[in-house]
Amino acid sequence: MGDVTLDAGRTRRWLELLGAALTERAEELTRLDAAIGDADHGTNMARGFRSVREKALAQDGAGVSGLLRGTAMALIGTVGGAAGPLYGTLFLRMSQATEGRDGLGLEEVRDALRAGVQGVIDRGKAQPGDKTMIDALDPALAALDAAIAGGMPAPDALREAADAAERGAAATVPMLARRGRASYLGERSIGHQDPGATSAAILVRSLADAAG
Ligand code: ADP
Ligand code: MG
Repeated sequence: MGDVTLDAGRTRRWLELLGAALTERAEELTRLDAAIGDADHGTNMARGFRSVREKALAQDGAGVSGLLRGTAMALIGTVGGAAGPLYGTLFLRMSQATEGRDGLGLEEVRDALRAGVQGVIDRGKAQPGDKTMIDALDPALAALDAAIAGGMPAPDALREAADAAERGAAATVPMLARRGRASYLGERSIGHQDPGATSAAILVRSLADAAG
């Protein structure tokens, strides 16, 4: 067996760091959503992760899959709008992909994240370039693939993925939104960073900080 990248303790730490970062940056996320949406993304995510802390993280003895499932349920239950069901699907698919397993290696983490991102695509139908959370998540997966192919150690590979996600979020600025509420603005969506791509980059960064 190779090195452990993600176990129950690190999953817990990921979800705690993610919730703290989203809460700390809620105003920024809401400001981004004010420009091309309805100014609720930060409050949505902070509310969702308060429920994650109170429900999912309160389960004693939960494994990786159980923590991810609890997170999905908390988000689906408390976050309205587009992001709740989409992030809920991401965590639910990750939970299914890790069912019955603990102590995941880097490739298993990559595979679980890919299953989660595919869930977002299945549900939301966004493609890369549509100015959504996919524009941060897809480059993160590509960076993980390249790092794994190059034999990079897990902590470095996850950091590369987080860097790629942040670059991906920044690259949404000149994009025209083709999915979600921002797409109603047409050309006026150009020139603003997508809030969901920004929260998705925070998700990958906190994974890199917690795992590896
Ligand atoms: P709402 O748009 O319902 O107010 P939020 O403000 O919480 O929900 O989330 C908006 C974010 O959701 C967008 O910035 C975008 O990244 C993401 N999003 C919206 N629609 C889709 C979709 N179909 N696929 C992927 N992501 C989407
Ligand atoms: Mg919104």
